[in-house]
Order: sequence, then C-alpha cells, then structure tokens
Amino acid sequence: MSGILAYALHYEGAFNKNSLGGVSEAARLASELGCEAHAVVIGDVSDGLAASLGNYGVTKVFRAKDAPEGLAQPVVDVMASIMDEGGHDYALFGGGLLGFEIGAGLAARLNAGVTMEVTQVNVEDGKLTAERPIHGDSSISTSRYKDRGIIIGRLNAFEIAAAGDSAAEVEDVTVELSEASQRLTMVTRGEQRGADVDIEGADILVAGGRGLGKPEGFELCEALADALGGAVAATRAVVDAGWYPYSTQIGQTGKTVSPKLYLAAGISGAIQHKVGFQSSENIVAINKDSNAPIFEYSDLGIVGDLNKILPKLTEAVKAKKG
Ligand SMILES: Cc1cc2nc3c(=O)[nH]c(=O)nc-3n(C[C@H](O)[C@H](O)[C@H](O)COP(=O)(O)OP(=O)(O)OC[C@H]3O[C@@H](n4cnc5c(N)ncnc54)[C@H](O)[C@@H]3O)c2cc1C
Repeated sequence: MSGILAYALHYEGAFNKNSLGGVSEAARLASELGCEAHAVVIGDVSDGLAASLGNYGVTKVFRAKDAPEGLAQPVVDVMASIMDEGGHDYALFGGGLLGFEIGAGLAARLNAGVTMEVTQVNVEDGKLTAERPIHGDSSISTSRYKDRGIIIGRLNAFEIAAAGDSAAEVEDVTVELSEASQRLTMVTRGEQRGADVDIEGADILVAGGRGLGKPEGFELCEALADALGGAVAATRAVVDAGWYPYSTQIGQTGKTVSPKLYLAAGISGAIQHKVGFQSSENIVAINKDSNAPIFEYSDLGIVGDLNKILPKLTEAVKAKKG
C-alpha cells in the first residue's frame, strides 16, 4: 500500500473548504491503512501555504508551479504523473464540479475505478471502499476497487480535521502537459454571485424554480426574502439554465437545508429537489398546477400564479413589519 493523493484547490491565497475536508479525510484513511497521505497543489502557491496542509495530516505536498490552476485537464496530467511515479493507489477529492471533472479524467487516464458523490469512505481488508447514496438518497451503494480508485466526495461530506501544527514537506514537480492541456487558457476566475450567502444557515429560504419564467423572475423571490430576512435558493433546472448561481442549488446534487420555512415558488417538486429540503420545519408551495407533486409534501399549498402572489406576500410582510 503506497498512499493516497488528495487534490487541494486554492483561490486567492486560501484553500477551498471542501478540499481541506478531502485532505483531512485522506490523512484519516491513510493512518487506518498504515500508509501516507499526500496532497497536490497547482500553480502559484507559496511555500507556507503549501506546507500548511501538514496541519490536516498530509506528510508531503507536491506543487506543480507551471500548470494552470482551475482547469481540469492540466490537473489530470499532473496527478496521473505523480500517482504513476509515487505509486499512489487512491486519489481523493473533496467534491465540487471541478473535482468531478478531474476525477473522471483521471479515472480514464489511469484505467481506475471512480465513485462520485461519496458520503463515507471505509477501510476493509486493507483497501478503501466508498459509499454513495443512490435512488434519491433512499439507498446506499458501495464501491470496491479492483486496482486503483478515484474517490470524489459530496460537497462538505468530509469533515475538516486539523491534526496539529506540523508543516508538510513541499516538493516541486514539473510535468509535461498534454497537447490538449496546452491549448487551454484560464480567461477569468471569480466568485459566483450569491456565493457569499449562507444558504445552509438561513432560517428562511425563498426558493425559485422554472415557474419564475425568466432570470429576472428571481427579483420576486429576492424581494420576499429581503422582507422576511431570509435568503434565496433555487432548483437545478434554473441554475443549469444560468438564471441563478450554482451555489444556491438545493437537492441531490446541490445543498441540503433544513430551515424553519422553505417557501417554494414555481417548483414542481421533483424527488431530486425534495431530498435537499425535506427536513425543513415548514414547507409552503406556490404553484399554478394543483397536481404539482410539491403539494404532496407541503404544509401549506397555494394554487395560483406566483407573479401575482409573491408581490402581494412581500407587500403584506412589509406592512406587518412596518
Ligand atoms: C441525477 C439528477 C440529479 C438532480 N439533482 C437535482 C438537484 O440537486 N436539485 C434540483 O432541484 N433538481 C435536480 N435534478 C432535476 C430535477 O429532476 C428536476 O428536473 C428539477 O428539480 C425541476 O426544476 P423546477 O421545479 O424548477 O422545474 P419544473 O419541473 O419545470 O417545474 C416548474 C413548475 O413551475 C410551475 N409554474 C409555471 N409557471 C408558474 C406560475 N406562473 N406560477 C406558479 N407556478 C408556475 C409549473 O406548474 C411547474 O410545476 C436532478 C435530476 C437528475 C436526473
């Protein structure tokens, strides 16, 4: 057994939270397996920042200074090369879209097994097994790997565990990037609108779906959320359409929330959305279709046009507060 390699994504001089979860998980598993956990960082990372990953339990950090951070293909090149040379049996990612993309590419490159949306990793007979929820989170599927394994966590599934105050050894690596990677350029990188809103911590969420009709429809949800002192959430249909930021998506492939009030406007109530908010204390739905599935699990259902109902609700809340 020769080790686990975890990818640590960074932005503006800090590591991403999910990555730190992935690094901590790699260290935990390595200590159970009796091997070492290493991390890989890409691009411009200071000695101090790279070495600080030792605080989360990795003993060595590989730094590929010349590769561009944030693009999947160059990271695949770097990780495949490190794993081949170092003989790592597993690669571990904290989660997120970039992790999915790198993990899939790495699995293809190394002919390894891959499991995404993993919520738990166990050690069985000296090997790792990965659990992921399936069928709308109603069952668990367990993956075992014949040879090497790529494990990609569900967002925030792995706990960040600071193991102490020890600096990891930093080793610079130079990897020749594939032709495809060399054709890629990062044009711009930035935070998504709304990424700073704490959806998971909000007591009140006003969620919007395709029934809002257009991106500007979210202004109705924002006005009501403002009046109620809450935040705005969304379905996958609308974030995929680019109407609202991914960071606000609730559901199987988004966030799981349990606010005091979840108000769903123009949302049909697909099972993949439901699993993200079903433990909310109170669920209120506004939908023009009285047969919409969301009414089956709402505490209060309002059948009607959200374009008329949302502004009236906002007005009423403001009037009550005023
Ligand atoms: C593997 C997988 C994972 C997925 N993960 C997620 C996930 O994490 N989160 C998620 O949300 N989805 C997820 N989905 C997608 C999910 O299946 C649904 O397609 C999606 O949730 C539908 O979004 P919606 O309710 O906004 O749109 P729709 O299903 O199109 O519903 C729109 C609703 O708006 C109503 N409406 C229209 N106009 C008005 C109006 N004027 N006033 C009031 N009501 C109106 C309609 O009656 C309809 O019920 C996933 C799907 C798959 C296959």
